[in-house]
Amino acid sequence: MNSESRPPIGESVNPAAPRDERQEQVAAALTATRERVARAARAVGRPPEAITVIVVTKTWPADDVRRLAQLGVRDVGENRDQEAAAKAQSCSDLNLNWHFIGQMQRNKAASVARYAAVVHSVDRPTLVPALSRGAVNADRTVDVCLQVNLDPVPREGRGGVDPDHAAALAADVAASPGLRLRGVMGVAPLGGDALGAFERLATVLDRLREEHPGLDMMSAGMSGDLEQAVAAGATHLRIGSAILGSRPPLR
Ligand SMILES: *Cc1c(COP(=O)(O)O)cnc(C)c1O
Repeated sequence: MNSESRPPIGESVNPAAPRDERQEQVAAALTATRERVARAARAVGRPPEAITVIVVTKTWPADDVRRLAQLGVRDVGENRDQEAAAKAQSCSDLNLNWHFIGQMQRNKAASVARYAAVVHSVDRPTLVPALSRGAVNADRTVDVCLQVNLDPVPREGRGGVDPDHAAALAADVAASPGLRLRGVMGVAPLGGDALGAFERLATVLDRLREEHPGLDMMSAGMSGDLEQAVAAGATHLRIGSAILGSRPPLR
């Protein structure tokens, strides 16, 4: 122990529980984010309890997932199967809800179906039978949100079903064993009007409810646009950097 980390004389410290600065940093950021969500909800007359914060742990180690669980977080989000599968495995004792929020490849569907509570990113018909088969083989039910394209100028690699094709995809999911259709997910276009985009997402959800009245998830809003998402009716926010810090550049 160096002199800096030695406690001042007279302060009692449990040597088995050294001060964890990362834990304190994450706790403070989580509290600040929860306050930010509550303020955003009150501003539009919504109860803050109606909004679930999914903490996006991509690129951060499993130790951070444990820290979050200790702080009462129940929902975590990941966007790559390989990383998510390993973390879900090493944190299986925590009984967390794992949300898969990234672009999904069909050959990863069976793996994702083994740990994901919710897949937010079903955006094309070919994923549905693969995910359904994976869920049935794993003897699980996987909740599904349709990722809807909110970009008026569709961009390569951003994903999302065209709003006009959402109803057909929803019917597909609803008819598939092992899958339970829950709602929609959207990402606001880069540099665009986030509120307008999330309102379009809410409209798509409303339309789907004509056929599927039980839909109860609108997954929208990240660190930079959570206020707009709450204003448009989001039930689930996907927050990474505001809680865990800025991620290292993508590998
Ligand atoms: C990374 C990611 C987030 C979290 O973004 P932050 O800006 O770090 O809050 C949310 N949604 C998706 C789909 C992501 O990939």
